[in-house]
Amino acid sequence: MNTEIIHIDEENIDTGLIEKAGDIIKRGGLVAFPTETVYGLGGDALNPDSSRKIYSAKGRPSDNPLIVHIADLKDMDLIVREVSKEAKILADRFWPGPLTMILKKSDRVPYETTGGLDTVAIRMPVHKTAAAFIKASGGYVAAPSANLSGKPSPTAAKYVIQDMDGRIDMIIDGSDAGIGLESTIVDLSGDTPVLLRPGYITIEQLREALGTVDIDKTILDGDCKERPKAPGMKYKHYAPKGDLKIVSGTQENVIDKINSLTTEAETQGKNTCVIATEETCKSYKCAHVKSIGSRHDEETIAHRLYTILRECDDEDMEVIYSESFDTSGMGQAIMNRLLKAAGHQIIEV
Ligand code: AMP
Ligand code: MG
Repeated sequence: MNTEIIHIDEENIDTGLIEKAGDIIKRGGLVAFPTETVYGLGGDALNPDSSRKIYSAKGRPSDNPLIVHIADLKDMDLIVREVSKEAKILADRFWPGPLTMILKKSDRVPYETTGGLDTVAIRMPVHKTAAAFIKASGGYVAAPSANLSGKPSPTAAKYVIQDMDGRIDMIIDGSDAGIGLESTIVDLSGDTPVLLRPGYITIEQLREALGTVDIDKTILDGDCKERPKAPGMKYKHYAPKGDLKIVSGTQENVIDKINSLTTEAETQGKNTCVIATEETCKSYKCAHVKSIGSRHDEETIAHRLYTILRECDDEDMEVIYSESFDTSGMGQAIMNRLLKAAGHQIIEV
């Protein structure tokens, strides 16, 4: 398949091109598009064939449901059984923005889109190109991240092109994703709201808005035997090709341990890399040290994480050691993704 690549400037949207992209969705095709979190791989959420095509383009297991993206709050009514009080509060505070809500689905949403579940995940992005594209597509765009299954989510169009060129109809090349991590997911379909995936909107913010919000235990605990409630969270996602391990402890101990581990790996002739911070990157002896940003700037760390993991793949890194991060605020999302990327391999020092 020939994949058309178009450029759209968020601040000066070419409506003709957006209409063209929307028409592809209406005809059952697939278009990758930028959002504020990561790039999405879009298809018509109400068309079961489109959802099937998304799974096949990504190589994604079909029990892993898709998020339905909308551009107008009132469009939610058609796809849910009821817009609950909690949903209204969260939409009012955080939409448009990086928050996904799970609600009981209406009959209009095919099971192909929800991976067989009776609930549907819904998000209203704030990215202007995304919103214009969703409107031009008829209002309901099912979209997982636009990466091949198992690879880190794409934060720039070049990574979408790497993974999806030849597999979908069109890629909208917009700016780099501002946030760089997938949306926060909160399940509102039961009695108590539950955080299923941490993200830019933190558990603290959700609790401030709703009161009690539980946390799915599997988010940070690698030993937890329960199944994650967001089916997608069970897969070894976000993983680079090399063997990634996290080293956790006091700064001095972490630096010493990583230096001895990387020396050993390099002696064995392995292409080795350290994921460090601005504060520590000069303390490592390894030939390849990548700074993810200042330890005090979680937004930059979140923004850089997937790019660094992709760079490790591009540079054929075989062994990767990363520093660990705090788990409060946005740090919860950063550590959740890093732990998944590392298959929960963590060395305590
Ligand atoms: P992605 O769009 O690639 O970031 O993945 C979407 C995430 O949302 C996956 O982890 C899914 O398992 C999760 N998700 C989507 N729909 C539902 C749902 N109805 N219930 C629980 N999790 C969901
Ligand atoms: Mg994904």
